[in-house]
Amino acid sequence: MTANWITAQTRDILARHGIQLKKSLGQNFLTDQRVLDRMIEAAELNHSSGVLEIGPGIGALTQRLAMEATRVVAVELDQRLVPVLQELFVDQAHVSIVHGDALKVDLAALIRDELGEGTRPSVVANLPYYITSPILMRLLEQKLPLNNIVVMIQKEVAERLTAEPGTKAYGSITVAVRYYTEPEWVCRVPSHVFVPRPQVDSAVIRLKVRHRPPVQVNNEELFFRIIRAAFNQRRKTLSNALSSLLSNRREKAPLIEAMTASGIDPQRRGETLSLEEFARLANRLDEQVF
Ligand code: SAM
Repeated sequence: MTANWITAQTRDILARHGIQLKKSLGQNFLTDQRVLDRMIEAAELNHSSGVLEIGPGIGALTQRLAMEATRVVAVELDQRLVPVLQELFVDQAHVSIVHGDALKVDLAALIRDELGEGTRPSVVANLPYYITSPILMRLLEQKLPLNNIVVMIQKEVAERLTAEPGTKAYGSITVAVRYYTEPEWVCRVPSHVFVPRPQVDSAVIRLKVRHRPPVQVNNEELFFRIIRAAFNQRRKTLSNALSSLLSNRREKAPLIEAMTASGIDPQRRGETLSLEEFARLANRLDEQVF
């Protein structure tokens, strides 16, 4: 199938159903078979895999997932697309289309009920870009029993999620994603393979979900608060940035003491700290300061 053919088919389906795409829902549909191949390959599906797809659109990726996986559940927010998808998968009982908001539906229950208790499904999706971070953080913070997450996202966000410490792209979300997963770059995707063409380039990444975090963190809530504070004021030294967490900002001495005791120079900037260093610092601050 050529890209032109898929583009024509996409436009035809939309025209037949009288659907005008909504920019506000991030509706840029993928029309390149090779990119779909790369996503399927990265997900490493086998015939016992379950898949959760977020935002199936008119089913370009869903159709490929249905060929490779045992069960597919796809959550689509746009009610107008639901009958299109139901018609497409009418003969495929292993594909369920759920009308709902991926930021609100009970994903744990959906996985349990639709994909089976005790399974570790993959999430494979061309995400709506306006909610990439909240969706990813929801998938990770809920500690869902996932195998991996293969997503198409905006290229700059992909760079951020796979960045190394000390680089411009490294941010609080990079550290959080590394805590829960092993991130990996899959491929860059040019904007012309979408209908309509978005204003940004895209990339596919794979997040291999860890069974347990690679570092011991005694107080996760504090750990993430420290990371957010460290990146909130990137230009400041770590001791200044973290003083925003103290009830009395001027009383920085215990903060500096705890940093030094955990082998971290208080003059460093938060953006230079690795995941291991953030964990060490958070554990020490948990014991001594907060
Ligand atoms: N999977 C299709 C493809 O690859 O061509 C469509 C991807 S398109 C980038 C994103 C899809 O997510 C759209 O179909 C949009 O309606 C849907 N969507 C937007 N917000 C959503 C949400 N909160 N929950 C579920 N789906 C959503």
